[in-house]
Amino acid sequence: MLRNDQIDEWDREAFFHPSTHLAQHARGEAPNRVIRTGSGCHIEDREGTKLLDAFAGLYCVNVGYGRTEIAEAIAEQAKELAYYHAYVGHGTEASITLAKMILDRAPKGMSKVYFGLGGSDANETNVKLIWYYNNILGRPEKKKIISRWRGYHGSGLVTGSLTGLELFHKKFDLPLAQVIHTEAPYYLRRPNKGMSEAEFTAYCVAELEALIEREGPDTIAAFIGEPLMGTGGIVPPPEGYWPAIQEVLDRHDILLVADEVVTGFGRLGSMFGSDHYGIRPDLITIAKGLTSAYAPLSGSIVGDKMWKVLEQGTDENGPIGHGWTYSAHPIGAAAGVANLKLLDELNLIENAGRVGAYLNKALAEAVGDHAHVAEVRGEGMIAAVEFQKDVEAGEFFDPADKVGARISAKLLEQGVIARAMPQGDILGFAPPFCLTESQADEIAGKTAKAVAEVL
Ligand code: PLP
Repeated sequence: MLRNDQIDEWDREAFFHPSTHLAQHARGEAPNRVIRTGSGCHIEDREGTKLLDAFAGLYCVNVGYGRTEIAEAIAEQAKELAYYHAYVGHGTEASITLAKMILDRAPKGMSKVYFGLGGSDANETNVKLIWYYNNILGRPEKKKIISRWRGYHGSGLVTGSLTGLELFHKKFDLPLAQVIHTEAPYYLRRPNKGMSEAEFTAYCVAELEALIEREGPDTIAAFIGEPLMGTGGIVPPPEGYWPAIQEVLDRHDILLVADEVVTGFGRLGSMFGSDHYGIRPDLITIAKGLTSAYAPLSGSIVGDKMWKVLEQGTDENGPIGHGWTYSAHPIGAAAGVANLKLLDELNLIENAGRVGAYLNKALAEAVGDHAHVAEVRGEGMIAAVEFQKDVEAGEFFDPADKVGARISAKLLEQGVIARAMPQGDILGFAPPFCLTESQADEIAGKTAKAVAEVL
C-alpha cells in the first residue's frame, strides 16, 4: 500500500478532480479524503475513520457497499468475456438479460433499452433520438428541449445545457440555443407566499404554456424533468404537478423525458418515479441505481411511440449512427443483473420506502422546529433540510455564509456524510436502501447537533 504522503503528492501532481475548487485543492485547504473500503451504509477512509454515508456516494450505491454478490458477478463476467461490442446486432447474455429485466420493471408503454455509461451520455442519447425522430417525421424545425431551472441532467454540452444550475453554465458558454428553461416546481421558493400548492402548480403550468406559445409549439420537441428534483435541492413536485404538465405536453405533441437517474430503481420506495407520480414518459433516463454504481452503466428506455418511428425509419435511412464503444458493456450489464436481483431478494425497495419514511419523520422531529429550518422535505429514501435566515419573512441566507457546507462539515466531524447541495442552504440525505431505523435515528440526532452548533 502507498504511504499517505505519497498519495497526497501524486494527487496534487496528477489528478484533475471533477467539480472541485482547484486552487484550494492545490493549496491543501481541504482535507484529502481517500476512501479505502466500504460495507453496508459505511465507508472507511485511509486513516481508518468509519463514516455513515447518508448520501450513498452520489446517491448511487443503493444496495450499500461491499456486496460480494455483485463483485462476484463482475469477476465472473470479466473472466468469461470482459468485452464485446453491441454494434450491428451483437450482444452478450448479460446485456440481453438486463434489457429484459429493465423492461419487466419499467412503467407501461416502454419498448426497448439503449445502454450507455452514465446519466450524462444517456441524456445526450435521448436528445439525439428526439431530434432523429422529428427528422424522420418530417418536422425538422421541432427541436427545442424544455428543461427546468434547478433541474440536473448531466454536465456534457447538451446535458450541461439541460441542467438548470448556473454553476454548470458559467464560463462554458452554456446553455446551447436549442435548450430553454422554465420554472422550477419549488414550492418553498414560490413567487408569492400566499399561494397554495395547487395554485403554485397552476402557476408553473401557466409559465410552461406561455413559454411554448412564445417559442411556437412547432419548434418544441420535448420536455425533460426529474420526477423529484435531485441536485437542484431535493424537491418533491407540488400537488397535481405531473398530470397537469403532461396534459400541456400532450396537447402540443411534445415528448416527455423522465430523468430517473436518481429516482429509478427504488429511491422513492417505488421502482420508478414515473409510476410513483403517475407520469407517462416517452423516454426514461436510468443510471446510478441500475448497477448501484458497482460498474458504470446507464440506459435510455424508449417508449412504444418513438420506437415504432425509429425502427421503421431505418428501412429508409439505414442504421442509426449513434453508439459508444462501451454501449452495453458486459461487465456493467453483469453488475446490473446482480444488482436488480439483490434489490428483489432483499426487498430493498420496500425497505427504502419504509425506513426512508422513518428517516424523513426523524429528521422533521429532530430539526423541524429549529428557528432557521424552513422545511424538511423528501420522499422514500431521500430527504432535505432547507435553512433560512428568517423563516417568518422567507429571507434566505447569503450564499457566502455557506450554511449548508458548514453544517455538513459539523456532521462529518460526528462521522456522518450528508451533502451540502450545490445551490442554496440545503442539506441532502439519500442513504443506501439497507439503512436501519437506528441508523436513521443516528443521522437525525447528529444532524440536530450539527445544526445547533452552526445556527
Ligand atoms: N440526471 C440526473 C437526474 C442526475 O442526478 C445525474 C447525476 O447526478 C445525471 C443525470 C448525470 O449522470 P452522470 O453524472 O452519471 O453523468
